[in-house]
Amino acid sequence: MKVGDLKRAELRGKLSSFDADFAYWVATSTPSTEQPRPRLEKHVSQIERLGNALAAERDIIESKLDALTSPESVVAACTQLEIDILDLHRVWGFFRRKFALRLVPRFFDFLEALDELAFHCYRRAVNPAIAAQTLRPEAVKEPPLVYFEDSTIPSAVTRSSKSYLYDAGRHVPKAAGLLAMMNAMPFPVIGVPWSQVHHLPSALMLAHEVGHCIERDLALDSALKAWIDGSVAAQRAPAWRAWQSEVFADVFATLALGPTFAHSLVALLAKDAATIEKETRTSAAYGEYPTASLRVALVCTVLEQEKHSAAAGEILQDWNLAYRKSALSDFKPDILNLVTGLREQSPVLSKLASALRFTPQDQQAAERASNVMLSPIAGTPVGDVRQLFASAAHAFQQNPDQHAKREIDQTVVRTVLEQRAVGVRSVVSGPVVPRGKQKDRDQAEATNFFASLRAARALAERPGEDTSETEPDPELLG
Ligand SMILES: [Zn+2]
Repeated sequence: MKVGDLKRAELRGKLSSFDADFAYWVATSTPSTEQPRPRLEKHVSQIERLGNALAAERDIIESKLDALTSPESVVAACTQLEIDILDLHRVWGFFRRKFALRLVPRFFDFLEALDELAFHCYRRAVNPAIAAQTLRPEAVKEPPLVYFEDSTIPSAVTRSSKSYLYDAGRHVPKAAGLLAMMNAMPFPVIGVPWSQVHHLPSALMLAHEVGHCIERDLALDSALKAWIDGSVAAQRAPAWRAWQSEVFADVFATLALGPTFAHSLVALLAKDAATIEKETRTSAAYGEYPTASLRVALVCTVLEQEKHSAAAGEILQDWNLAYRKSALSDFKPDILNLVTGLREQSPVLSKLASALRFTPQDQQAAERASNVMLSPIAGTPVGDVRQLFASAAHAFQQNPDQHAKREIDQTVVRTVLEQRAVGVRSVVSGPVVPRGKQKDRDQAEATNFFASLRAARALAERPGEDTSETEPDPELLG
């Protein structure tokens, strides 16, 4: 047999190994009434839509192979086709690793509970945008997929997706713009640190990352700009605009989870007094984040506005006792204007804020659940997903020793999963999603992604171009 014929068979085998692997994950997620239920039942729509997206590229590769009529033409084209097939496997592999983590019993419960929290925060923000017709139903993504990664804090693959660039875009220069294309995939992914395996209070930072996903998926950039410009003094607007994504994510998470998120954020930001007291920003480099003191003031102002005044006062008092001074005091008056401006400067942000609210009644329910778990005869907590997560964090903040001894995080994870409705879930609560249009969109986005990947690689391979690999950043910022 000629080399070209063997090569053709080999390439077909590599392509069908993708088909066989994908079929396994479809089977592992397709709902069934038989027991035990499919392990990844809640991920069926994510896998289905990813399958639609990747199938477009898979079919393009197959048709290229079919068009090669002679063994010689196969030999001439085989290097490029091998790279194309490898790209397909790599992109799928990036997601597959995250699904595969759930097949390890030790990780399943915690990741699935985090998925539930992300789902409930995400869904609350998406539906008002559909109702307001600022988001078309076919443009709605599936809920975020949570996974563990080697970062120090949670990070959404929307902004700091260097791990994705490393995974999928290996040998492609950083300038390839893969991040924007990755963002066109049918669902967001959020990494949480391995150190947070089984520690829910830190995991509340997930809501901040969902805020980043919502900013991107609802295309809120111009709404955020209008909000900032309409709320703060003109001379400080450039700074606030530089920080707008992080400011929005902090506000989003505080609205979604209330006082316990603010406590978790303070725990994350706390450093030695000299560092916090000296921390500042200048017009030369505003950076992406406001200072820690401004962030704490911001979330406490949101809490005040949402009628969690006692918690806000307590957090601010503790912060001001630990840190006697802070720079940028002229920025403080902008904060109240930003928080009230959220409901005044942009209709979509106003609707989103109302839909997200974690009310004082929600907080009371969380505290009741926390008390039940901390009481001498520990009982089963009662509450919805957000209240239950807040209850775990509240119990930790009240009594870290008992929180650990009584395995409160495990109780909350178990309760969240026991309460989870059987079957498939949907982000969209109202209108029927036009599946055909959604599939066309997913396929167009993916085809564009792979075409750009090929173009970037071709550019990188030209003499004199920088072909350095993109390295993952060990300190991914959330
Ligand atoms: Zn962030």
